[in-house]
Amino acid sequence: MKILFSKLFISLSFVLLLTACATLKNNNTSKPIVIEASIDLVNINDDKVQITIAPTAIQGEEILFYLPQIVPGTYEYSNFGRFVEDLKAFDKKGNPLTVTTVDENSWKIASAKKLGKIIYWVNDTFDGPGGEKIYPMGGTNFDSDKTHLLNLHSMIGYFDNIKESPYRLSVRSPKNLQAFTSLPAISKSDSLDIFNAERYFHIIDNPIMYSEPNAVSFDLDDIKVGLAIYSPSGTHKAVDYQAAIQEMMIAQKKFLGKSNNTSSYDILLHLMGMEDLQYFGGMMGALEHHTSTTVVFVDAMQPGELTQSLVDVVSHEFFHTLTPLNVHSEEIHNFEYNTPLMSKHLWMYEGATEYFANLFQINQGLIDAPDFYGRMNEKVNYGQRYDDSMSFTEMSAGIVDEPYAANYGNVYQKGALINMCLDILIREKSGGEKGILWVMKKLAERYGKEKPFKDENLIDEIVALTYPEVRDFFTTHVEGTTPINYNEYLSKVGIIEGKTESQLPGVIFTDASTPIFTPQDIEEKGRFLVITGLNSTLEAMGVQLGDIFIGLDGQMFPEISQENGAAINAIFSPSFMWDAETEFSITVERNGGSLTLSGNVGTPSAVISGIVEDPTASEATVGLREAWLFN
Ligand SMILES: [Zn+2]
Repeated sequence: MKILFSKLFISLSFVLLLTACATLKNNNTSKPIVIEASIDLVNINDDKVQITIAPTAIQGEEILFYLPQIVPGTYEYSNFGRFVEDLKAFDKKGNPLTVTTVDENSWKIASAKKLGKIIYWVNDTFDGPGGEKIYPMGGTNFDSDKTHLLNLHSMIGYFDNIKESPYRLSVRSPKNLQAFTSLPAISKSDSLDIFNAERYFHIIDNPIMYSEPNAVSFDLDDIKVGLAIYSPSGTHKAVDYQAAIQEMMIAQKKFLGKSNNTSSYDILLHLMGMEDLQYFGGMMGALEHHTSTTVVFVDAMQPGELTQSLVDVVSHEFFHTLTPLNVHSEEIHNFEYNTPLMSKHLWMYEGATEYFANLFQINQGLIDAPDFYGRMNEKVNYGQRYDDSMSFTEMSAGIVDEPYAANYGNVYQKGALINMCLDILIREKSGGEKGILWVMKKLAERYGKEKPFKDENLIDEIVALTYPEVRDFFTTHVEGTTPINYNEYLSKVGIIEGKTESQLPGVIFTDASTPIFTPQDIEEKGRFLVITGLNSTLEAMGVQLGDIFIGLDGQMFPEISQENGAAINAIFSPSFMWDAETEFSITVERNGGSLTLSGNVGTPSAVISGIVEDPTASEATVGLREAWLFN
């Protein structure tokens, strides 16, 4: 999974600023059971969808029926059972059977031998009860004849001990909408699609998006790639993003080499409206699956912005085909949806994935070295928001509960940096020849999709493949609680602290997270936003330090007060969606007169403290750096 927060979310900190200044297991059953599941997207009632589950033959006097408490890739309790309403069971003649609610996610059905079908209604997570706590990329959205995002783990349940039985899934849909999914179809028509899932895991590993046709499909060597987009405004067309996805996936395949054998990959991009983004607190992102990914961004993003976000996020998801999908422990292989055991190795599942999603971009020439260093430096800075002395393996094993859960976001920061340090260390010891990607490829050869490793043996196996110093690193910084001195590792490849020109997240920033203004009281006039920082775009437009910032793109700020925080943020909000081509204006007061300055957003940058190449580095050090970035 990859979580991103909309820059709109960063804008919330402006309000704070204003305030601060004012004061899985197998089972065997004798007879093969087939579970017929059906979803009716046509007769939606009060934003709820009716589900029917009909198993062929159940043994025993009673049986438990579940919806998952947690699903792979999310690392938090979701309790999907809470979206279920009015669950009823019937025998084969249609007579009701006794159903007892056991807990939020499970129901006990009496006289199980006679069970004909279970019928229930499900709410969607995009506006269902407590749905804002579900990651939107792992959620469901039912929107009549516009779109249906189906993450089936919140709709379709499973029976105790028969998770391994095949499912036949029928979906009745509005005629204007088409299904987009990596789940194999048995038959398709404009109003009824029938899919086949080998076992319950395949039900949840293959989300489905229904929308009006807006998809492209193309072959890259030996992989078939599909991209489907639901855009509420209709502005984003799949065909416009094909080139960027193509370039990215070719680069990823080259980076991974033979170790990738994914034969098809589908990208389901569900763009949400502004109210949905607000509902989820600014959260966007993607969730990984074996042959697809669901991606949720906001429709208001400009094409340039959306393209870069897609490249960063989809590449992360595609690298999950390496780990955990092809290198994972028994805890993940035999995932228990209602009594989960977590693996200790999030440093690898999310950390290595996130590191590769950045490293491949410089390795394959999609970004330049300063951009890559900037990304790593940002991870060092963002990582400081979390507990730096929490054992990473301990955190991983306990991730669904506090105090670990609050530190989950660090898997994308420190988790990636752990891999960067290991990469540098292994490069150093192997004279530049091997790195962490080599280790991962070795593990993928040894294990793979169907063969899990033993959680407690993984680090020993990695050490056996590499060097004793790698053991020390794990003991001290991954299992242990000693924070990493990143400069120590970066200096091995001739990278030091220094001033660097850095691209900014938006036109109103002066570094990665600081706005260009500070609220200040001006005597006898009141509180104003004063320009206290600049960037390349604003400098070129003629904005000066000390100008009073009174309006943005034609909208004037109300009085600067805590009560007006939301109104002020609403003026900033559109700027987070602008791309390089967007024209805008800024209105300032200078020497008693007001001045409106206009220009293009361009690529705002500023000179900030970061990490740079050491010009005095030795030839050997530079050689090691080249090996690290480009081998
Ligand atoms: Zn991930």
